[in-house]
Amino acid sequence: MIVCFLGSSSGMPSKERNLTSININFEGENFLFDAAEGTQRQLISAGISFMKINNIFLSHFHADHILGLPGMLATMNMLDRTNELKIFGPKNVKEKVNTLIDLALMQLNFKVKAIEIKKGLLVESNSYTISAFPLKHSTHCFGFVFKEKDKKGKFDRKKAEALGIPVGPLYSKLQQGFNVKVNGKTFKPKDVIDFSKQRKGRKVSIVLDTMANNSYLKFIKESDLLIHEAVFLEEKKERAKETMHSTAREAAIIARKAKVKQLVLTHLSPRYKDEKEILEEAKKEFENTVVAKDLMKIEIPRHKIE
Ligand SMILES: [Zn+2]
Ligand SMILES: [Zn+2]
Repeated sequence: MIVCFLGSSSGMPSKERNLTSININFEGENFLFDAAEGTQRQLISAGISFMKINNIFLSHFHADHILGLPGMLATMNMLDRTNELKIFGPKNVKEKVNTLIDLALMQLNFKVKAIEIKKGLLVESNSYTISAFPLKHSTHCFGFVFKEKDKKGKFDRKKAEALGIPVGPLYSKLQQGFNVKVNGKTFKPKDVIDFSKQRKGRKVSIVLDTMANNSYLKFIKESDLLIHEAVFLEEKKERAKETMHSTAREAAIIARKAKVKQLVLTHLSPRYKDEKEILEEAKKEFENTVVAKDLMKIEIPRHKIE
């Protein structure tokens, strides 16, 4: 699981920072959160294939979060994409995505499926879930949780082979909790899985644009990584309230209350040239804080088997 910070500025880009988008790479697939202007070039610089992006999550429709989308669709089309692309966004996402496609006179050769975000589960596979929760911003806005599923039990491959269960899809069936039959003999998951061993799944939470508040603590709690906007410093606390954004200190307090392992501050106002100030302010409340840099990558290591 690798998180890449494609950009880290808010409002407008600067010489040092592109606007904010985040990519999570998990099991060979890329998940893009927000599609800010310039995102496709940042993806190229980061060495991330956007042909392996099948899901894009738009937190809200403010200009600095979505204007990279039409350009990216055009490129995918030029590269002969055929796979369906799902775009999740708040209310009216279908109309908005269609408007962006029409605006650029695009005739796409692949299917784009726009899906309105409702609080709760958005995507689920055998190994992960992605869910959304509402934030408090000047327009409908959602935060996201990417959660690797907990692994209950350790699969004993050697034992399975010794029992004569052929390598392949039957293994995953057993891991999913089903009995399987081989040459008339039935095998149960407990025959090949040591259920005394557990591995907790990794969790990454993304909070872009919100007035910091306690309402979303329960969704992000105990994340391995919390990515939180920090448009302002505490000196501009009033401005943060007016524009419904957070300060670095507020984001750090959220991280502490939610008992996350690590905090990354991003979506920084271009007015702050020195990230040290941002870091110092946050560290007073939550020590394990990092300020995002463009193209910075953080690998979240697998949890140990308990
Ligand atoms: Zn923003
Ligand atoms: Zn916004």
